[in-house]
Amino acid sequence: MKKKLNNKKTSNSFFFNCPACNKKGFSVEQRIDTIPYLGEVLETFAKCKYCKYKTHDILPLTEKDYPKKHKIKISKQKDLERRVIKGKYCTIKVPEIELEINPGPGSESYISNIEGVIDRIIYSLKRIKKIEKKEEKIDKKIKLLENAKKQKKEITIIFEDPTRQSVVLKNFK
Ligand SMILES: [Zn+2]
Repeated sequence: MKKKLNNKKTSNSFFFNCPACNKKGFSVEQRIDTIPYLGEVLETFAKCKYCKYKTHDILPLTEKDYPKKHKIKISKQKDLERRVIKGKYCTIKVPEIELEINPGPGSESYISNIEGVIDRIIYSLKRIKKIEKKEEKIDKKIKLLENAKKQKKEITIIFEDPTRQSVVLKNFK
């Protein structure tokens, strides 16, 4: 009985100050998953019950000494299917369109494939297009990325991660 009361009293301590709205409604949940070819990863889900701000993080638990830089040429379906772990501190570059996406404070890690990475780049370019007034230039970049997805155009994607938490895996089969 005493324990129960105690639990009730301290339940608030499971909430942290939210990085977005600063209210004490930020809860963090973690779980360990096993992902094929990657081994164990620690997944962190955090969300705020007030402003709905949320983050999702993936950290590989198996120590791997990935290189700091991965340069990938994309021209075939096989290339688009390669699995990618993009770490929080990873910069993505596409030299063909002079694009560089640097990690910001809200930057998340994720697991995807090359095609998924291209989709995310297109999505952020569309968002930039709304803010900046360089529509024609941005449309050109989006077009090139879409052509790369259709394998009509070869592009290069460079992943640079000083913390070595990013990797592009080879195809397994
Ligand atoms: Zn909040």
